[in-house]
Amino acid sequence: MKKIGILGSTGSIGTQTLEVIDKQPEKYKILYLTAKSNVELLCKQAKKYNVKTICILDKSQYSYCKNKLPNIEIYSGRDGLLKVASINKIDLMINAIVGGSGMEPTVNCIKSGVDVGLSNKESMVMAGDYINKLCKKKNVKIFPMDSEHSAIWQCLKGEQYNQINKLILTGSGGPFRTKSIKDFIKIKKEDALQHPNWEMGKKITIDSATMMNKGLEVIEAHWLFNIPIEKIEIIIHPQSIIHSLVEFVDGSIKAQLGIPDMKIPIQYALSYPDHDSILWESLDLAKVKTLTFESPDLEKFPCIRLAYDAIKKGGSFPVVLNIANDEAVDLFLNNQIKFINIPEIIESAMKQHTYISNPNLNDIEDITNQTKKLIYSKLEKDYR
Ligand code: MN
Repeated sequence: MKKIGILGSTGSIGTQTLEVIDKQPEKYKILYLTAKSNVELLCKQAKKYNVKTICILDKSQYSYCKNKLPNIEIYSGRDGLLKVASINKIDLMINAIVGGSGMEPTVNCIKSGVDVGLSNKESMVMAGDYINKLCKKKNVKIFPMDSEHSAIWQCLKGEQYNQINKLILTGSGGPFRTKSIKDFIKIKKEDALQHPNWEMGKKITIDSATMMNKGLEVIEAHWLFNIPIEKIEIIIHPQSIIHSLVEFVDGSIKAQLGIPDMKIPIQYALSYPDHDSILWESLDLAKVKTLTFESPDLEKFPCIRLAYDAIKKGGSFPVVLNIANDEAVDLFLNNQIKFINIPEIIESAMKQHTYISNPNLNDIEDITNQTKKLIYSKLEKDYR
């Protein structure tokens, strides 16, 4: 039995991970669950899986948990989350936390020698180099749970890294792929929250609408697979059937396909190196009929350019990119800024940033605080 913990168990990836595990309860034992604020669902899950420990990030919900679950160990707050992330008595920790606050928990898992099923792409964006070095030192593996990275991981199985010519990440193009750039000013939150193919949490749905999601994924792929950024491309593929591709030095290309369902990459991260025999839904290519491709429009989606800029400049720039994006998306979801202000805020944060070459965890924390401060003063000055 594989002993599992899930950080962020009540979100989109967390609940889908549990759906996968429900299909093979004999293979997995869930010991640890954490959630941000959905306390009812967290307690329900804790009871159902008879877990050892839970953590609710929102401290005000601690007594609710204690009343509901008198016999389960309960932590709360950021300290509690970091404690759960440091537990070494499990085989795999799934990190399904949303945003930059998921990075430190990833680091804690690795420090404790626990392999990580990584859905929190922000971890690699902010601290990819640091995390890779730590993984090597601790002999810990990261299993990608993002659909594109799972695709590349599968394409690379049995291949030689020096024979890779390039990685090609596919992206659906989001809800505004065909929208005219002059109408971007009118985009409402409700429009941006409608993703054509994937059902996901709010943050990543907005990231898909700005296409920052693809930018973050390019950076994530760079660190996960140790491929230079010049060899990572984005292709828009509106049907979301091909989840990514790898081109080898002889021009041969491998791709991974499937219906757009996160449970497939989630399951592969759980069952790696095997493919478990649970068929979610077969891909019927005759029904799909057409697969189309186009180049990304960098004028409409400046976030892609900003992400490439950040990783090319390197050092601390991807930290700023990620934190500024987290904050800007939050402000947009709280109706404080317009959709088109998201890339403006990120660009201005990057322009004002002073480069640090090899940021350690303290540097990253400082940059996080500085970037947030900067954005809030810009908000007061320019958007109020
Ligand atoms: Mn993805």
